[in-house]
Amino acid sequence: MCVEVITTGNELMSGLTRDTNFSWVAAELSSSGIGIRYHCTVADNLEDILASFATASTRARFVIVTGGLGPTEDDLSALAASKFLRTPLVFNPAVYQDISQKLKQRGREPNIHHQKQAMFPEKVTVIENPVGTAAGFSFLSGNSKFYFLPGVPREFRHMFREHVLPDISNTAERGTVLRVRVLRTFGLGESEVAEKLRGLSTEGVNVGYRIRLPEVHLRLTASGDDSEALDSILDDVCAQAKEKLGYFLFSRQDESLEKVTSSFLLEKDLTLSVAESCTGGLFSSRFTDIPGSSAYFLGGAVIYSNESKEKLLGVSADKLARFGAVSEQVVSEMAYCARELFGSDIGISISGIAGPGGGTPEKPVGTVWFGLSHESSGTLCEKRNFTGSRDEIKSFASSTAIDMVRKFCLDYVK
Ligand code: ATP
Ligand code: MG
Repeated sequence: MCVEVITTGNELMSGLTRDTNFSWVAAELSSSGIGIRYHCTVADNLEDILASFATASTRARFVIVTGGLGPTEDDLSALAASKFLRTPLVFNPAVYQDISQKLKQRGREPNIHHQKQAMFPEKVTVIENPVGTAAGFSFLSGNSKFYFLPGVPREFRHMFREHVLPDISNTAERGTVLRVRVLRTFGLGESEVAEKLRGLSTEGVNVGYRIRLPEVHLRLTASGDDSEALDSILDDVCAQAKEKLGYFLFSRQDESLEKVTSSFLLEKDLTLSVAESCTGGLFSSRFTDIPGSSAYFLGGAVIYSNESKEKLLGVSADKLARFGAVSEQVVSEMAYCARELFGSDIGISISGIAGPGGGTPEKPVGTVWFGLSHESSGTLCEKRNFTGSRDEIKSFASSTAIDMVRKFCLDYVK
């Protein structure tokens, strides 16, 4: 079961476009228990594309090719396939009709370039594209099955799931299943996670670290022929990891911090608002990315200047002047004022120095104060000192604030 993926395009070779088709398809195949043995990326150059097909056909049972099916001159995949198969390109009237119809629906007429998209090597099987114009195709050459799919990620994913994955899975040797769990932690570095996990018994389970700053993820995989037995081994390792990592482990299902926190807010019937300064709306943005967040997220204010902290939120001018915007006293008032302003159960505040300028010896770049206000607990304040770029500090700060909400919810009893 050897699978090879060939991604094509100058924009991939120049680094202008990230090869997300590859990472997506690798994850998709791996969660079906199918590994990729080879991956290559080639520029829009006929000779190089041909050479990549020839090499793949000597070593891969399945070859997945993406990109180069469009109407322009630099789209060479069908031509390369016809040279590889030593068959001419022939016009497929049904595909042309389909393309024309799709264009007409968008108020456009087909032109000469679209005829090119209806040219396929003789005897290949056409793969329909219900979400775009470029159809794909497949053929068997020797012992290798080739699939050609468009480069546009939405189209590629759809056609891969509909046609290619079922086909490959059907041929896959029966009996081998792969089970995967992803555990996500927040608040510890990689080595601290490893230290806490010392003594974890992981027989039959492969443990890999995946760093997604500021989070550290653990990927647990087990393969064999009995899926129930694999699940039970993984359940056991997850339970041990939970025991060892405690609060730091926030998801055993590869869920985001905000998603997990949202579930807690819903479960505990708590509403949330925020007054954020250095994160510039990132906290609000992360919550509002979750469908249905209006049930618990009441609103957020980006209050960047001292004046807006005073005028819009009602923070006392005296405290701002005495302690500065990045201080315990000010975030404490900000959190309380946000709760009052939005009428939420929880009010969060974030104020810090994201850099690169603006630091002082007492408050260096990366200093961020957080406040959480709730009537049961008064206002809890925390200070952190982050390092990194401006973007990283903003991301760390928004995660820390979300994590404060998560921990508050965990302990909260009505
Ligand atoms: P089109 O009909 O749009 O020309 P195509 O099948 O010819 O589709 P390409 O021209 O290679 O595909 O790529 C179209 C667009 O899809 C690219 O501009 C790029 O944004 C995206 N794309 C292509 N390959 C990849 C890839 N491997 N990963 C992520 N995006 C990709
Ligand atoms: Mg193209």
